[in-house]
Amino acid sequence: MATYSIALDIGATKTAAALLAGNKIIKKVVKPTGAGQNKTKILKNISGLIRSLWIPNVKKIGIGLAGQIDAKKGIVNSTVNFNKDFRQIKLAEILKKEFKVPVSLDNDVKCFAQGELKFGQGRYFNNFLALTFGTGIGGAVIIDQKLYRGKNNLAGEFGHLKIAGTWSGETPLCGCGQKYCFESLASGRAWHKLAKKYGEKSADKIIAPNIAVGLANLATAFNPEAIIVAGGLMDHKGLFEKVRKEFNLKVPYPVLRQTRLIKSKLGENAILLGALL
Ligand SMILES: [Zn+2]
Repeated sequence: MATYSIALDIGATKTAAALLAGNKIIKKVVKPTGAGQNKTKILKNISGLIRSLWIPNVKKIGIGLAGQIDAKKGIVNSTVNFNKDFRQIKLAEILKKEFKVPVSLDNDVKCFAQGELKFGQGRYFNNFLALTFGTGIGGAVIIDQKLYRGKNNLAGEFGHLKIAGTWSGETPLCGCGQKYCFESLASGRAWHKLAKKYGEKSADKIIAPNIAVGLANLATAFNPEAIIVAGGLMDHKGLFEKVRKEFNLKVPYPVLRQTRLIKSKLGENAILLGALL
């Protein structure tokens, strides 16, 4: 008999929740996270989603959340794009009490990278970077087929690297309170801001070189075999090709042009699969 589990991908905009039999997603629902609401309401949204998928033989719950996570203790330390009171939340413990099964919690993009490593295109590389382009930009580092976490589980927070990108009008402020962050110039949210003002075509034109600057910096820092990207922004027609072209112009060493830029085939499902690892 298959082992059933529930996985959640909690982003700043929406939460995807899935019921799995082994590694197979058999049911999936997507709901707004309500990240702007207070912590009690956010928690209620999360447990409501789990309950909507619950069947009696679920054996574990795995969660990927867009924030700074203490994966060992299952605590959400802080988040940039959620309500300010959603911090220091013992999320794993709270849900374990409610559902009486083990709960694991990690940063969403760290889950994504591990999902890719085990089930996706990451299987073919020893060293790769994984990035998601959603409301913000998340990242993770795989070295010798292992997730590199850094001292505070913060390695890979590429969204807040400062980049010299271009913009039109006043430079926007990032959710972290600073300017010139990669995600304030190249995320889905940044794209929407530009598209509203200048139209979708112009938004793509401004965003593509900004994404390429960030990726070229990362390729220079890590010299990985591949960079695997996911997120709605990457599905825009022609954008990925533009990024690749600009990337080749921006890397400082010709050999870095050999870095494989890959669009994830698993997409956001890699977060759900990785959350259960
Ligand atoms: Zn920032």
